[in-house]
Amino acid sequence: MPPERITRFAPSPTGPLHLGHAYAALIAADRAGAGRFLLRIEDIDQSRCRPAYEAQIYDDLCWLGLSWPSPVMRQSDRMPAYRAALGQLAAKGVLYPCRCTRADIRAALSAPQEGAPLLGPDGLVYPGTCRTRSMAEAHPDDALRLNMRSALALAGGLAFEERGPLQPGRHVVDPEWMIHNVGDVVLSRRDMGTSYHLSVVVDDAAQGITEITRGADLFDATGIHVLLQALLELLRPTYYHHDLIRDESGKRLAKRDDARAIALYRAQGVTPQGIRALTGL
Ligand code: GLU
Repeated sequence: MPPERITRFAPSPTGPLHLGHAYAALIAADRAGAGRFLLRIEDIDQSRCRPAYEAQIYDDLCWLGLSWPSPVMRQSDRMPAYRAALGQLAAKGVLYPCRCTRADIRAALSAPQEGAPLLGPDGLVYPGTCRTRSMAEAHPDDALRLNMRSALALAGGLAFEERGPLQPGRHVVDPEWMIHNVGDVVLSRRDMGTSYHLSVVVDDAAQGITEITRGADLFDATGIHVLLQALLELLRPTYYHHDLIRDESGKRLAKRDDARAIALYRAQGVTPQGIRALTGL
């Protein structure tokens, strides 16, 4: 018997769930099939998360007909696990403290010899200003960055299996592309003590997720996640990236697209089956 498939939906309670979230949640639940569908609340950015949005997430998902085991994992409860993972990475010598502000990075990148700044899946590709600093000189207010070149050298060859409809097959992570287009990503933000990339990898492993379903906008971040799994010696799930729900002008839905909030469709009498139909499922 193949092992049970375990999937998850991992919303951030920073706004109302909209049609794009419903689509992502329904795909994760459908992909779990006879396996397990889990929920995780991604609330590391406490300045943007609201309890009312979290309550609405549970309510909307129940209304859609979804169910999941309790207790639900909440990232704000997981700081010790993130600290432990950062400790493991620091012991491998692939982290360094960084005190650059966004303005510093922009200024360094606009120096005439730098050419056009590169925007990767993690934002502006870091120019490496603090790369020679050691963890021994880390200050509590510093961010921690992954030295991409050393991390890739330590991890060796990396690949992942994509099962989604857009780019199915085995994908080999290209180290040169990672170094030049992703760069030294932040794993611990100064105001948070962790980052999306670190938390998602640590938590997917802790929850035993076997297939990660998520929007195609995160496809290019997968190389970062696979690299962190290798460095932290975690099992590698398979991936299923789905297309994004867009508005009439072709723009992807954002949290502020309240016009497509599930709560609003509910108030207008749309049924859960109607939501499925609206998302094309
Ligand atoms: N929390 C992320 C979001 O709301 C999802 C991250 C993921 O699925 O890996 O967009």
